[in-house]
Amino acid sequence: METDEGDMNTALMVDGNAIAGQLQQIFGRDMTMAMARCAACAREAEMGALMVFTQAPGVVLRCPACQAVIARIVETPTAIYLEARGAAFLRMAAQP
Ligand SMILES: [Zn+2]
Repeated sequence: METDEGDMNTALMVDGNAIAGQLQQIFGRDMTMAMARCAACAREAEMGALMVFTQAPGVVLRCPACQAVIARIVETPTAIYLEARGAAFLRMAAQP
């Protein structure tokens, strides 16, 4: 993996498991095993395996294959914004 200074702040990167609690709050279920298909490269990855940047205003989730932005989450005092136009879809197991 590239570690140059020019590289995209990989030192600040964590994975999707780091925001498992936040995702659970939003979706009401564990989302780390849910699959997200990247709209840019069509690769599928578990939400828990996405590249996550929490140092931005809000949270940015990126594709581990092509690094395209898959989703952004911003919380304000009165609302949660979830933008996921970089995801072709999210797929989660049906609950009994
Ligand atoms: Zn991708």
